[in-house]
Amino acid sequence: MTGERVSRRDFLVFGGILGSLFGWIPFLRPSHVSLAGARFRIIRKGHSNRRYVVIHGDEQTARQALRRLMQSQEGAAFEIENQSRNVPIAGGRIDPNRMFSRAGAEADLKKLNPDWTRAQIGAALDLLDRGRARLIHALLPPRGGLLVALHNNTGEYSVADEESLSDRGFVPRPDHPHAFYLCTDPADYQVLAASGYNIVLQQHGPEDGSLSRLCATRGVRYVNVETARGDLTTQVDMLNWLEWKLA
Ligand SMILES: [Zn+2]
Repeated sequence: MTGERVSRRDFLVFGGILGSLFGWIPFLRPSHVSLAGARFRIIRKGHSNRRYVVIHGDEQTARQALRRLMQSQEGAAFEIENQSRNVPIAGGRIDPNRMFSRAGAEADLKKLNPDWTRAQIGAALDLLDRGRARLIHALLPPRGGLLVALHNNTGEYSVADEESLSDRGFVPRPDHPHAFYLCTDPADYQVLAASGYNIVLQQHGPEDGSLSRLCATRGVRYVNVETARGDLTTQVDMLNWLEWKLA
């Protein structure tokens, strides 16, 4: 009887250790998804309907914040492998956060490749059209899920630039204008506005080919967590706040 108890106890202890190991060690299933010259590494962990993305290759603080987050969170993380902001396409360049619509991509291709002919732009747009759905399918969360994008900014860009483009805005920290949430869902806006961080809601806006615009158009919950480059502490804190408060 005693022996049975011991072995049962041992079994439970062993099971508990195994359970915590499986809960702690990420179940990694590395794979990739690409569009034009943009290539994303995918880290999947657990079965959460959370999706995370770092889309600009030169935003190293966002990369660090994402990797730290994925030590404790479940979901699928998409980290761009390119190291520069813009990625190669058909001998030219494009901002990977302008690829999500043909119209947005066209405007960006013309801006970044001013010497391109109409035919070159058309060929690049056709290339994007052929691969866009696959990337979107990979990136977007299942119904009701949340897509979190991590960005860093430098220079003059701040929440002030987004306020005039937004449906709603709340700037409780005007002294820290580079740190803000940008979301597409009014309910998420209400929750995140209590964080004490700056926030804007963008349900409507010009079609620029960005991921936020795609999500707003499709009614997908999206939150961009944006901070100044190098401000890892703030970016991690904003992510933690989001994780604690958003279901
Ligand atoms: Zn960015």
